[in-house]
Amino acid sequence: MLTSQPKSKLGAIPMARPATHLKFPLPLDPTRVRADFPILAVRNSHGRPLVYLDSAATSLKPASVIEAVNGYNREYSANIHRGIYEIAQRAAAAYEGARGSVANLLGAKADEVVFVRNATEAINLVAYSWGRHYLKEGDLIVLTEMEHHANLVPWQVLAAEKGLRLEFVPLLDGRLDQEVFANLLAQEPKLVAFTHVSNMLGTINPVGRMTAAAHSAGARVLIDGAQAVPHMSVDVIAIGADFYVFSGHKALGPTGSGVLWGRREILEAMPPFLTGGEMIKEVSLRTSTYADVPGKFEAGTPDIAAAIGLGAAARYLMALDMCAVRAHEQALTNYALGALVQEVPGIEIYGPGNGARGGVISFNLPGIHPHDVAEVLDRSGVAVRAGHHCAMPLHAKLGLAASARASFGVYSTRQDVDALIAGLREVQRIFKA
Ligand code: PMP
Repeated sequence: MLTSQPKSKLGAIPMARPATHLKFPLPLDPTRVRADFPILAVRNSHGRPLVYLDSAATSLKPASVIEAVNGYNREYSANIHRGIYEIAQRAAAAYEGARGSVANLLGAKADEVVFVRNATEAINLVAYSWGRHYLKEGDLIVLTEMEHHANLVPWQVLAAEKGLRLEFVPLLDGRLDQEVFANLLAQEPKLVAFTHVSNMLGTINPVGRMTAAAHSAGARVLIDGAQAVPHMSVDVIAIGADFYVFSGHKALGPTGSGVLWGRREILEAMPPFLTGGEMIKEVSLRTSTYADVPGKFEAGTPDIAAAIGLGAAARYLMALDMCAVRAHEQALTNYALGALVQEVPGIEIYGPGNGARGGVISFNLPGIHPHDVAEVLDRSGVAVRAGHHCAMPLHAKLGLAASARASFGVYSTRQDVDALIAGLREVQRIFKA
């Protein structure tokens, strides 16, 4: 029975719908998947198992990823692309193999995949290299109001340095206002940069359509896929963007892993970002020539272990089948949205009221600070994020200082959602809301 009307800051909550985009993947078996994540067997200091609902911040890591990292450190921890001895060659092969696995996950070619530390670094790379080289005073960059700080601050810095203009696509019912977007494109921006999936609202943006429209207006397109790659099938060629970035550590990979994918001819025509060792062809005292892409953008010794771990993560995700992952998380999200509004009186959930959304649910319990919510939940082993989720402008737009956020990964289950709901009812009991 409904204990409260479905309530959302931005519209009605969508109810369960079957996934319609599947190409008959085997359904994901949560019990088998969870057995692959050793951390789920660890108890907290209160003896409770972990209910991890913070995958949007970073994901848990499966045993195959942990083993890939450990295997490198234990058996062949040499530097890459230098030594001719056996373990150095093994390290180089594993590193380049990981690049191939990531490329397969994205439907891309391996030489268009640049290993970086995280999505933030990938966007900074594009801003410093492509942006500094190609943008000039008065040029327009179009961003959106739902961007993570990682896709705002680098452009703010570049705009201040070069006298660029920044404009923002606003929200309409938790989605990007496509009419305003079209009007901004009429101003012929040089770059359009936006998130694939919002890390606060869960909104899935129509990336293919927006990219095609931006290209028709003559703009380059960067897509922030940090909240998309771990959760759905992403084909960068089909999307058609110029740059696509994501965080490896949110996609079951180790921290210190992230990816910039760029179209080869664009990467080739960009100056390097960081310079020094590894990224060169020839160096004399006064001049240098640079390595071919992607090496040109990987200066110095990379985080070899993290890249190898990310390769294992990509293979793990592909073995699950990304369509099955999406179906699992979509069903779970629909279950959670329905159950939260039914079982937690007064809960306010943010995000688009209808249509597809990712497994990110930001919410508030009226009268209770989200930090208090997160703290009480933590006592029962339920890990959620509380704060602005690096989306301060979006919170300001919604009139919020902060929110709590539950976010799912491949290993999340209905039991996790039920534990969240029980925890939230306990929060309400403690605070007598
Ligand atoms: N973009 C989005 C949409 C994100 O959710 C995040 C991480 N919260 C980032 C960028 C930044 O990722 P990283 O911390 O790996 O740089």
